Amino acid sequence: MTVVKPNLFDYDRQGLRDLFASIGEKPYRADQVMKWMYHRHVTDFGQMTDVGKALREKLSAHVDIVPPKTVFEKQSADGTHKWLLGMDGSNAIETVFIPETSRGTLCVSSQVGCGLNCQFCSTATQGFNRNLSAAEIIGQVWVAARHLGNVPHHQRKLTNVVMMGMGEPLLNFDNVVRAMSVMRDDLGFGLANKRVTLSTAGLVPMIDKLSEASDVSLAVSLHAPNDELRTELVPLNKKYPIAELLGACQRYVAKRPRASITFEYTMMKGINDKPELARQLVKLMRKVPSKVNLIPFNPFTGTRFERSEEEDIRNFQKILLDANVLTTVRRTRGDDIDAACGQLKGQVVDRTRRQAEFRRTLDEGQVDAA
Ligand code: SF4
Repeated sequence: MTVVKPNLFDYDRQGLRDLFASIGEKPYRADQVMKWMYHRHVTDFGQMTDVGKALREKLSAHVDIVPPKTVFEKQSADGTHKWLLGMDGSNAIETVFIPETSRGTLCVSSQVGCGLNCQFCSTATQGFNRNLSAAEIIGQVWVAARHLGNVPHHQRKLTNVVMMGMGEPLLNFDNVVRAMSVMRDDLGFGLANKRVTLSTAGLVPMIDKLSEASDVSLAVSLHAPNDELRTELVPLNKKYPIAELLGACQRYVAKRPRASITFEYTMMKGINDKPELARQLVKLMRKVPSKVNLIPFNPFTGTRFERSEEEDIRNFQKILLDANVLTTVRRTRGDDIDAACGQLKGQVVDRTRRQAEFRRTLDEGQVDAA
């Protein structure tokens, strides 16, 4: 029988120290190994030269350091880099790095596929297969950091992580929180709290739970300013309507002075881009410290939606800006390698029979416990 050894990518600093204690080793030894993993991108215990030979042999016998396998990678003309990472024999997910003048942002996935069925989302068409482990989440950052030669505190090319790839991160709570802890740990990737962003479709109880467990930035996929339209685009809204969602956002920022929530709003032609809807959005944004990120829709095969006209996006933005709502328009990146937002689409074995499963979950009120 093959014995699967613990993968050290699955542990945050405290977890690693506890694991080392269980094999009779001091906490500082765990810290040393963590630094080799995340600052020097070393996965072979034999190369950890400041760790004694006896301990290296002991570690090799008891534990492993296994990053995700890169199945395929591609760089866009604009510098955007995409990895297709194999998560097991039959599933793959995508991770995308977007370089800009003053920062480099990595978009990370939390689940293989997604069961929330947002109508405009490419990932939703794939259904849901499973949650990613903490190792598979932090492994995405590790693969990108190694490729970039990123060294925390010295040569920092990877400055921001957004949990906005495949999946609803709050439905994989423990693994996501542990992975985000490594992202922000000085012995991990050393990112400031505000540079790690979790994006949710709006799981109200889980936003409150996140507020207790972590101090990251919060983004909400809003996409519509009233319940009728939002329920059509984001079915989760039926369970957690906008008023409840904004209540959770208010509680989140109330605990964090100077924090604001980023509301993502995908612009779809003739659907949610009318001036009247911009005026409704202004009223919502008055209720919570916020900024709005308008995302031109990225069409994908089989979708019924189209990208809003450039002029309609600008008009929509102007209405918000004129009302003093900080509003940006996301520049589309990586179009030539299908890495643009909403196109994160690895290979997913759909285990959900998505529509039926989601409706059952919603009706039974289990969404926040999935
Ligand atoms: S937008 Fe996010 S939450 Fe909605 S289906 Fe896509 S991946 Fe899931």
